[in-house]
Amino acid sequence: MTNDAATKKWIESHPYLEGVAAFQALVEGAAAGAAPLTRRPAWDAYVADLAAGVPLLRSARAQLDVAPEGGAALRTIVARVAAADLPPSIAEGARALDEELRQDPRASEAAIAWLVCGALEKGETEGGGLVRYLGWTALQHVLAPVVAEFDRWRDEERWGRGDCPTCGSAPTMGALVTVAEGRGRRLACGACRTRWAFKRVACPFCGNDDAHRLGVLEIDQEPGLRLDVCEQCKGYVKTYTGTRDLDLVLADWPTLHLDVLARERGYERLGVSLYELGA
Ligand SMILES: [Zn+2]
Ligand SMILES: [Zn+2]
Repeated sequence: MTNDAATKKWIESHPYLEGVAAFQALVEGAAAGAAPLTRRPAWDAYVADLAAGVPLLRSARAQLDVAPEGGAALRTIVARVAAADLPPSIAEGARALDEELRQDPRASEAAIAWLVCGALEKGETEGGGLVRYLGWTALQHVLAPVVAEFDRWRDEERWGRGDCPTCGSAPTMGALVTVAEGRGRRLACGACRTRWAFKRVACPFCGNDDAHRLGVLEIDQEPGLRLDVCEQCKGYVKTYTGTRDLDLVLADWPTLHLDVLARERGYERLGVSLYELGA
C-alpha cells in the first residue's frame, strides 16, 4: 500500500487523529521541496566517537554542519505554515515564528544549531515546541541521505545504546523485526527518523534489563501494537509488532492515542515528542 493510501485508511479507523494528520500533511508537503544534504560526514574520523557513544550530529570529528541547509529548509516550511489556514492556537505561533525568522537572517540557522546540539534528554520538555517540530521535520528531509548512509555504514554492535546514534534523542517508538537470529528490536527516533538496533529485553531509558521489572501491555483495539513498559523508571516504548506500513506506524503521530493510554496507566512518556506544540 502506498503511504497516502495507508494514511487514509489509518485515519478512517482512528478519526480522532484527523486534525493532527492534516497538520502533519501540510508540514510534510512544505518540507518535501527541501534540498537533501550533498556533503557527507568524515566517516573514518567518526569511528572513535561512535564507539564512545557520541551521536553523529554532536561529533566534532564527523564535521557535519547541517545548519545552512537545515536553516534554509526551516525558513521555507515556516513561511508555508504561517500562510496556511490553521486553528488560532497554532496559527499565532507560526506567524510569530515567521516574523522572527524574517527579521534576523541568522535566526533559522541558529534554531537548527540549537536543535542539533541541544536535543532533548529523556522526558524533558521545554519551550519552542513549534520550532522543534518544524525544525526536525526540515532536518528529516535534509538529512535523509545521511541517515540512510549511516544505517548502511554503522556497525550496530558498536553503538548498542538506548538513544539515537544520529541525534542523541531518546527513542519515540520501537518495532520487532526479523533478524538472522530470530526476532530483534529496532528503536525509532521521532526527531531525525533514524532506526537502530537495541537489546530486546532492556529499557532504553534507564538501562534496566531485569525481565521481572519489564512488562508488556497488549492493547485490545490495536492487535499490532503494544506498550513495552519499565517498572524501574516508569517509561514505555510504543512497540509495533506488525510489518505492514512500518514507516507510517513508526511516525509517532498515528499512535498518539497510545500515549494517552500509557499515561492513564501511570507511565510517563520519556521518548522525545515533537507533538507537544503548546509546550
Ligand atoms: Zn535521531
Ligand atoms: Zn526504565
